[in-house]
Amino acid sequence: MTTHPLEETNLEDLQQLDPSDLLGYAFENYPGRAAIGTSGQKTGVVIIDLAARRGVDFRVFFVDTEKNHPETYELFDRIERRYGIEVERFGPRPEDVEALQKQFGSKPWFFSRQSCCHVRKVLPLQRALQTLDVWISGLRSDQSEHRDENARTVSWSTTHDGRKILKINPLLGWTDEDIDRYIRQNDVPYNKLYDYVSPYGETYQVIGCVPCHIPTKPEWGKRMGKWPWEQGGKKECGLHDQGSGI
Ligand code: SF4
Repeated sequence: MTTHPLEETNLEDLQQLDPSDLLGYAFENYPGRAAIGTSGQKTGVVIIDLAARRGVDFRVFFVDTEKNHPETYELFDRIERRYGIEVERFGPRPEDVEALQKQFGSKPWFFSRQSCCHVRKVLPLQRALQTLDVWISGLRSDQSEHRDENARTVSWSTTHDGRKILKINPLLGWTDEDIDRYIRQNDVPYNKLYDYVSPYGETYQVIGCVPCHIPTKPEWGKRMGKWPWEQGGKKECGLHDQGSGI
């Protein structure tokens, strides 16, 4: 049951809170209606760890494209064991995947990755958001230029069906170094693929669907390994349009 009406939320007050207090605010005021959404990136697991240390009951959901690496699924098993939680999974509907493949074949990511992301990410996210008043995400401002320009720690978002919800990015200002330090100091589970180094010194900057993410040289930038056949552009999948929206 919601204990704090959404319309009385003062965003400017919330922007001042530290990550742990923000998580406390969300889960204490919106029990059952706030959740951490993560695809298993390091930032998402750090947020889970912070929520667990805060001692609040919390929900976690995973938009499962069903195209993830085995290491990603194994990470979620470890997260569930470590924190004693059940991660809620929202995947694509079989009929949507079938329609996608009818139109674009068995490798739709090469022909219309926007359509593939829509079916495998955006639509499942919309179903997840229907259960929420507060969406907590691992968005960080250093993940891409576009995100840096637009994102805020706390903002309003509008769901696809016109409902207003609160979007919280508690670690917006953290850097890779901050995240890695926290993981080391607190023994936080992370995707083992981050330890992979190719014979050419390439590593995963972002881990996502198998067909669309490759290891790259870190100096090439964070998003170079995402949809590597695309040049330029925002390289966003539609989950965080406008940096903090839906
Ligand atoms: Fe499809 Fe690739 Fe998007 Fe995953 S990242 S949903 S495989 S286009």
